[in-house]
Amino acid sequence: MNMVEDFAPEVELGLAWRNSFAQLGTDFYTLLPPRPLSAPYWVGRSASVARELGLEPSWFESQDALEAFSGNQAIAGTQPLASVYSGHQFGVWAGQLGDGRALLLGETASGYEVQLKGSGLTPYSRMGDGRAVLRSSIREFLCSEAMHALGIPTSRALCVTGSDAPVRREEIETAAVVTRAAPSFIRFGHFEHFSAREQYAQLKTLADYVIERFYPACRETDRFAGNPYAAFLEMVSERTARMLAQWQAVGFCHGVMNTDNMSILGLTIDYGPFQFLDAFNPAHICNHSDHQGRYAYNKQPNVAYWNLFCLGQALLPLIGEQELALAALESYKTVFPAELGARMRAKLGLTDEQPGDMELIESIFKLLAKDRVDYTIFWRRLSHWVGGRAASDAPLPDDSVRDLFLDRPAIDAWLLQYSERLAKVGHGLAADLMLKTNPKFVLRNHLGEQAIRLAKLKDFSGVNTLQRLLEAPFAEHPGFDSYADFPPDWASTIEISCSS
Ligand code: AMP
Ligand code: MG
Repeated sequence: MNMVEDFAPEVELGLAWRNSFAQLGTDFYTLLPPRPLSAPYWVGRSASVARELGLEPSWFESQDALEAFSGNQAIAGTQPLASVYSGHQFGVWAGQLGDGRALLLGETASGYEVQLKGSGLTPYSRMGDGRAVLRSSIREFLCSEAMHALGIPTSRALCVTGSDAPVRREEIETAAVVTRAAPSFIRFGHFEHFSAREQYAQLKTLADYVIERFYPACRETDRFAGNPYAAFLEMVSERTARMLAQWQAVGFCHGVMNTDNMSILGLTIDYGPFQFLDAFNPAHICNHSDHQGRYAYNKQPNVAYWNLFCLGQALLPLIGEQELALAALESYKTVFPAELGARMRAKLGLTDEQPGDMELIESIFKLLAKDRVDYTIFWRRLSHWVGGRAASDAPLPDDSVRDLFLDRPAIDAWLLQYSERLAKVGHGLAADLMLKTNPKFVLRNHLGEQAIRLAKLKDFSGVNTLQRLLEAPFAEHPGFDSYADFPPDWASTIEISCSS
């Protein structure tokens, strides 16, 4: 036995680590190291996330980095742990869940918690194998960065490493690890866990911890008779409402809005069977395992409220009075529609709110749904259409928008009404706003699928290209129009399920 080879030294990243979560005590987690992953290789890396964390992107070039982010070498100063949480899955209380395949390494001085996802069995793995497959890891990596670039609150992804180690899903796939980062990965389910067990001391410890770290204003507010826990629930409700408005506006379907996948910071987390809408169908279900359509696109806003209600219920022992909890949740019902309206006006290039705007928005959504128009392409074409009208008083006929619709008289009438409304804003100003609001590039399922197919052959160029486009989704990227085109017919046959 070669003692030198067997001794894996700690990797020094040059980051100052702390782990405030670990200080909460062992009721909240189990300390354990990641399980090694054989012969890892790089699949994707984000230089911008590296910089955000305080790492030099050149550091990615080292073998140490590859080994560390595959779970093969410990990172100096980290204290890997799996946290325990519970949750409601598909509307049903699921009891204890927890980090079954993720490990929290610690927090960097830049304020990010860093996790390895897919790093092996934990005490919370239940029937799972603790692993993540290449396919879903690439999707999480690309979508995290895509959402960030769209301005939507999300966990970030530093890198993905892969291995030929087999992982059994519907078929045999291979393993991968995503290194992800967020200010916190605490979920509604962490609160539900201690509340359901009537462990109210731990519930209070957790709430005080989250309030101190992320919501200190709750301690100072005189809202809710100075009840900080009600104020906390209200702030989480507001953040969640804003996130949902952004999801709806960009056409993002999360797919598994279980309470254990809801961030206490209103971040998009746990990318599984998500999808950006292709053709606009309000009732679209992106998760092949979601037979009832619980998490359909148009149900997401109500589900978020339902989830917040679960959080409110979990916090009730701290809040004390049900009326206060209900009052705190009310904010969702005002913030969500207000935010959605603002997002939709921005998509239309409207810089202020005028009577009749709501009708304008509702009528275009009816037309989009009736003709199943491609959602992203419609908004981008409309942005250019407005820009075209700004360029000339008597524009050349531009049918790029009306060509998307079957009901031409209806879209013509709408465009006329819209153009009159825009005259008050100025078409040039509107187009500028629209081109920064309506992305050209989103992570459509078929684009992810093509990159994954190549990656399975160890060609990561597809991942790299998509990453580059999605990091700047509002730019034109000449030469890459095919990535902004309609999905091919086979796209509708892609089945994305909870299996990941
Ligand atoms: P998800 O649907 O990915 O949010 O996962 C729900 C729960 O199942 C969480 O507690 C995960 O940690 C756990 N889980 C999912 N996949 C696995 C796996 N392959 N091994 C262990 N636990 C898993
Ligand atoms: Mg999850």
